[in-house]
Amino acid sequence: MPLFINRDQIFAHQVHLLEHKLRSKEERILEMETENALLHLRLVECLGILHCGRNEEIQVQRQKHQQQRKVQKSTHAALSKLLSEVQVLKQDLRNVLTLYMGFAKEMEHQSKQLFECMGTAIQDHQSDDMQKLQAQVAALEHSLQEEKERCREERLRRRLLHNTLVELRGNIRVHCRMRPILPFDYSPGSPTTNGSLSCEAVVQAINDDCVLVNSNKSPVVNKIFEFERVHGPEDSQQTVFEEMKPLLTSLLDGYNVCIMAYGQTGSGKTHTMIGSQSEEPTAVVQDSQQGIIPRAASELFKMISEKPADSHMVEISVVEVYNNEVLDLLARDEDGAAVGVKREVITTSTGTSEVPCLTYELVHSSADVMQLINSVLKLRAHSPTLVHMDSSRSHLIVTLTVSSKSPDALALARRLQNARQDVRRVSQKEWWSPRCRRAASSHSSSPVSSPCHSPCHSPCPSPRPSITQMPLKTKLQVVDLAGSECAGMSGVTGAALWESSCINRSLSALSDVLGALAEQRTHVPYRNSKLTHLLQDAIGGDAKLLIMLCVSPTQRFLTESLQSLGFGSRARQVQRKPPCRKNTALKMK
Ligand code: ADP
Ligand code: MG
Repeated sequence: MPLFINRDQIFAHQVHLLEHKLRSKEERILEMETENALLHLRLVECLGILHCGRNEEIQVQRQKHQQQRKVQKSTHAALSKLLSEVQVLKQDLRNVLTLYMGFAKEMEHQSKQLFECMGTAIQDHQSDDMQKLQAQVAALEHSLQEEKERCREERLRRRLLHNTLVELRGNIRVHCRMRPILPFDYSPGSPTTNGSLSCEAVVQAINDDCVLVNSNKSPVVNKIFEFERVHGPEDSQQTVFEEMKPLLTSLLDGYNVCIMAYGQTGSGKTHTMIGSQSEEPTAVVQDSQQGIIPRAASELFKMISEKPADSHMVEISVVEVYNNEVLDLLARDEDGAAVGVKREVITTSTGTSEVPCLTYELVHSSADVMQLINSVLKLRAHSPTLVHMDSSRSHLIVTLTVSSKSPDALALARRLQNARQDVRRVSQKEWWSPRCRRAASSHSSSPVSSPCHSPCHSPCPSPRPSITQMPLKTKLQVVDLAGSECAGMSGVTGAALWESSCINRSLSALSDVLGALAEQRTHVPYRNSKLTHLLQDAIGGDAKLLIMLCVSPTQRFLTESLQSLGFGSRARQVQRKPPCRKNTALKMK
């Protein structure tokens, strides 16, 4: 079928479509106009509502604003009020602060014053107490001093009484001296403190007359020894001398006196008797270090100087007992050089011991005495031992013989009595002269002449001088014994062992003599040794005998120290007949 579409139809259709569109548009416009009107109405309505609301809001806001202003006003008023109140408060506070500051200052000031017041009050209080205490202390010190003084006086009285008792009983006096700790006291195994060797004193002076030996090591000892006087290491040479000084007065009172130093090598015998010499051979012993011999000699010459001029003369003899032989150390050879010459000891008809031909030198001062002693000391047998380098291997006996030429009636009577006794003895026994003298030539310059001045070199019987010529003689014997230790301690060997054995035998003989005397045996073995034979008069006779025990303080020498202390204790037991005064008329005025 053919497809032919009429144009008009198309147009008509289009018109129709358009008309339809138009109608629908018109309808739409109508609708929209209605809608518009409705919207307009609603707008008006809304505007109306809006207007009303806005007014209300404005109103509310206005009210709010008014309220705010009110509040603000009231707040402002309150704030201003508060501010003024704060100002007032601030002012008050400032006032209070100033007040407080003033008050604090015042407080500080017052507390200061109070403290000061309190301080002075306390001080016053304390010083009161202090004064009271000081007064008490002073009173106590005073009474202590008084007690000490009383104690000292009592001790002195006790000692004087004891000395009188000792004298009456004829006891041997024993003094003991402890030397200070010295370098040779440290044995190789000694304990150390802070790297240096140390050792303690096991032998101590606990007071004036007691020695305490206290050792916890072997040998364990806890023992007290009592002697007439005990010197500690701090006691000076002067103090030691002062204690024996009264014996010197006895010498001029007519008594024989003997002082004997006993102790092991290195215990201080030579230091005590002669003094310590410095290492240099030419050096002189310092005054403060001088021992008993120089001090005793000075004292003796001082006492003699107070007597009538030339009434006394002093002679010195120096003897050593070495290997049981008596050597005269003052003997000189033809050239005048000092040589030790062997001498014999004999017992005289009167029962006393004598050394015939012993050399005597006249001396006028302590310096003379010491010069002679020092010149002959070189001859003394010395040898180094383990203990010390300069150990004396002999007994040294220095004798100062004082002859008095001032007889009075009493002395003459005494002499007559003695002479009668002598005559009786002479008729029974052979009589030997007391001494022979050195060649008169060596004394030709001497201002004092000795009554026994004839030269003699051998033991020779000589007629006794007449009674009126006979001087009154007293002697001071000072003995520096050789070391009392055993051979093991001194470390000697060979020939020196013989020396040691001689020393030990002579010291044993000394102990035996003391033992026999203490037990009052009829036979006293004086002749068992040259030492005891020579010292017979001093030990068992009528001399005043003082044994000076010298003791080392340390553990190393404890055995030797105990031996020495034991020897001293035994010596104290000896009761001899009371010392006999040679002539009462010689008593010092
Ligand atoms: P000893 O003669 O008994 O063998 P010493 O007298 O030679 O002994 O003394 C030995 C050493 O000890 C010496 O160097 C001496 O100076 C010294 N010595 C002894 N006793 C004392 C003391 N009391 N004070 C100071 N040193 C002393
Ligand atoms: Mg000596």
